[in-house]
Amino acid sequence: MLNASLKELAGLLAGKKISSVELTQLFLKRIGELNPALNAFVTVDEGKSLAQAEAADALIASGQAGPLTGIPVAQKDIFCAEGWRTTCGSKMLHNFVSPYDAHVIEQFNRAGAVNLGKTNMDEFAMGSSNETSFYGKVKNPWGLNAVPGGSSGGSAAAVAARLCPAATGTDTGGSIRQPAALTGISGIKPTYGVVSRYGMIAFASSLDQAGPMAKSAEDLALLLNAMAGFDPRDSTSLERPKEDYGRDLGQPLKGLRIGLPREYFAAGLAADVAQAVETALAEYRRLGAETVEVSLPNSKLAVPVYYVLAPAEASSNLARFDGVRYGYRAPEYTDLNDMYGKSRAQGFGAEVKRRIMIGTYVLSAGYYDAYYLKAQKLRRLIAQDFTDAFARCDVIMGPTSPTTAFNLGEKSDDPVSMYLSDIYTIAVNLAGLPGMSIPAGFGANGLPVGLQIVGNYFGEAKMLNVAHQFQLATDWHTRLPPLSEE
Ligand code: GLN
Repeated sequence: MLNASLKELAGLLAGKKISSVELTQLFLKRIGELNPALNAFVTVDEGKSLAQAEAADALIASGQAGPLTGIPVAQKDIFCAEGWRTTCGSKMLHNFVSPYDAHVIEQFNRAGAVNLGKTNMDEFAMGSSNETSFYGKVKNPWGLNAVPGGSSGGSAAAVAARLCPAATGTDTGGSIRQPAALTGISGIKPTYGVVSRYGMIAFASSLDQAGPMAKSAEDLALLLNAMAGFDPRDSTSLERPKEDYGRDLGQPLKGLRIGLPREYFAAGLAADVAQAVETALAEYRRLGAETVEVSLPNSKLAVPVYYVLAPAEASSNLARFDGVRYGYRAPEYTDLNDMYGKSRAQGFGAEVKRRIMIGTYVLSAGYYDAYYLKAQKLRRLIAQDFTDAFARCDVIMGPTSPTTAFNLGEKSDDPVSMYLSDIYTIAVNLAGLPGMSIPAGFGANGLPVGLQIVGNYFGEAKMLNVAHQFQLATDWHTRLPPLSEE
């Protein structure tokens, strides 16, 4: 049951082999047993989850079930969910109970899915290791001394250890793909604008995009079907006809042109990761694909450009946390300004403060042209590199992360080395392209390696099939971490 695909679970529910209440109880029990070691969930509310499961069972009994009805899904704690504490990994929101649902939550509710609980994350989604959460570090189920990646590390660890059948994540610079890679699961960040950002706590609005994290590409397609769709409450939501992201599953890969960016296979890539990626590419050639070398000449600028633009947007977005209407307020202060200052000083962690300061600096009158404007121009060039590359290939592949999971604490005192762990994922957000990561073997230390697949705009259905064909031919995605044995 713990390893069943979403389609299998839906079949079992439809055939009355199990009820949604029983399924939800099964996962809640697992969370009770394994979460103390992993710290993947920050909030579990059995009563709420089981009430949704009961409603799902009624829907199934009345013959109105959809593909996700009755299926428990864990939600990253960045999504506002009515009546649920929603912390975004921060002390600033430790007491915030959302009065409304994010679009993503509404969509899952509409599909009859069960909210299984809120998953741990880096504070305000800033991080690559899940160590910046106010609610403590998340452990990687493949090795309890290793990080699960970030910022969607709680969701990744929860799926990898089978604490839930599937989860949601958000990806501003790699936060779905990098933790998916480091925990041996699959995840997709769609084209910017495909999933509404309404009710998703904002980090860097021009980069933030939500997506699903699950055991397989086939499951991702079902989840993305529920999550995607136009929403007028997000001004960057794209008005496009509803798509079936599973429509291409089953297409042969013969003739598929895979672009391999020269810059992604250069210095800085660990030998064991390179080896696993090469083996995966050999499998793709066996499946009928061709590989061509492409170049993303500006990709070396992606990390510096991102660390101007993302903090700039964050400094503006996070200005709303002032201790006035909701969230943390300092217990003692002398006047209004002192209250603002103390609430923010006490409510935000070190990484969030670092970003707010960088962002405020690059937007300040004297430096705007030198940093912010310059970074915007470079962002355009980075996007153009991909457009040029896609003239010669259908998808781009490479490593998701330069190394397998690093140790807890290893990079905590060295923000730049932490920032570089997103070197292959960040450019994709700057360009607004869809990107995914799928399991592709293991490194020298026995920790998972992820293969990154980048598609052209709106190429999700194609990418999901490219991943699915690989998963039909290999079994990396079915491997279980030691902690998750039944
Ligand atoms: N690790 C990157 C950062 O710290 C990306 C985070 C994300 O995608 N949310 O900003």
